[in-house]
Amino acid sequence: MKRKRVVVLGATGSIGESALKVAHDIPERMEIVGLAANSNARKLAAQANAIRPKAVCLVDESKISELRGALEYEPQIFLGESGLIEIACLDEAEMVLVAVVGTGGLRPALAAIETGKNLAVASKEILVMAGEIVMREAEAKGVMVLPVDSEHNAIFQCLDSQRKRPTPNAQRLTPDAEVRRIILTASGGPFRETTASEFESITIERALRHPTWNMGPKITIDSATLFNKGLEMIEAHWLFGVEMKRVEVVIHPQSIVHSMVEFADGSVLAQLSHSDMCFPIQYAVTWPERVPNSLPPLDFGKLRQLEFATPRYEDFPALNLARRAGNTGGTLPAVLNAANEVAVSAFLDRKISFPRIWQLVEQVMNRHTSVAHPDLDAILRADQWARAEAVKLATDKHG
Ligand code: NDP
Ligand code: MG
Repeated sequence: MKRKRVVVLGATGSIGESALKVAHDIPERMEIVGLAANSNARKLAAQANAIRPKAVCLVDESKISELRGALEYEPQIFLGESGLIEIACLDEAEMVLVAVVGTGGLRPALAAIETGKNLAVASKEILVMAGEIVMREAEAKGVMVLPVDSEHNAIFQCLDSQRKRPTPNAQRLTPDAEVRRIILTASGGPFRETTASEFESITIERALRHPTWNMGPKITIDSATLFNKGLEMIEAHWLFGVEMKRVEVVIHPQSIVHSMVEFADGSVLAQLSHSDMCFPIQYAVTWPERVPNSLPPLDFGKLRQLEFATPRYEDFPALNLARRAGNTGGTLPAVLNAANEVAVSAFLDRKISFPRIWQLVEQVMNRHTSVAHPDLDAILRADQWARAEAVKLATDKHG
């Protein structure tokens, strides 16, 4: 088996760092040929100096001299948003790992599909926003969209075990009537046991302290509000071609069972591992093979207990808002996602309270008239509109 040549978008982030670890761990199976970041020029240069990819990309063009000054060799350098699209289409690459926070990875992902590259997608936001388009384009080009999000990677593994070794194409991800339910596990975040009356006084510091996963700030806040799980319901709907009603959520505080699939005969398959994103990243890269690595195995003697509980839907409205957005479809998921992004950054800027995040998202959703089967332009318009509405509400003290 030859090495997979991968471009990493979002290299300097939490997922990006894990991807570099995986490449280091299984060098005979994974080679990084391109690295891209937003504005962290020094970190990008340090990563590039260590692994010497052919190309690097920095979206923030004002940092170019910082990048050049820190590089110890002469890779091809791409700049700006157009540079991100160019590096996603790099001739040498077979796969693009999209791990950019938010929706900045959407156009590069579509461009990568267009040039016949398989995608490994961590950026759930792009599937929430434009899942219909991404999956349709991937199918048309015969390329794979491999899930990196741990839950979706787990579901993919459970579905995979049901099939003979397939030829790679997106179509084979679609489960048929054999699948009764997809059950996403959620850690419940840091406020799993916090009473709703305390929500108003939650600080950023508390919200950023995730009990089981070490992640970037945006997804950590999403895990605290449960919007992360809401986004993941919509992500599962598009990735696996199942209706929203077959996607369920269960709280599982230990984050060992990463998700489950219940089949028509009532049997449930689950995937388990430590909560380390290197597991799903490696599976996406080496699929359909499994190869040995240096990740720690589970010690069942020490696990003691795996708990499961029904989510507190009343106290965490994000789940029902996401179900509503997924059921309505059209541009509403893009609106939910965009309003949430604005609300999370307003919370991180100490402009709004913790519960105001979901109140604000709901208000923006209520003001929107969804467009069915939108094209990319309609999605981007809805995204911009929702951002503007959310900014207004976030700055309006009486909103
Ligand atoms: P981080 O905040 O840690 O990292 C974000 C990365 O994206 C950085 O490399 C950043 O560059 C880059 N970036 C930000 N904006 C842009 C942009 N406009 N264009 C190009 N690059 C950009 O995020 P995470 O790694 O935690 O998350 C990345 C994605 O993966 C998110 O969509 C998240 O939902 C998803 N995910 C993350 C998991 C995790 O464990 N962390 C688990 C499952 C999914 P710079 O450093 O220069 O700012
Ligand atoms: Mg996840």
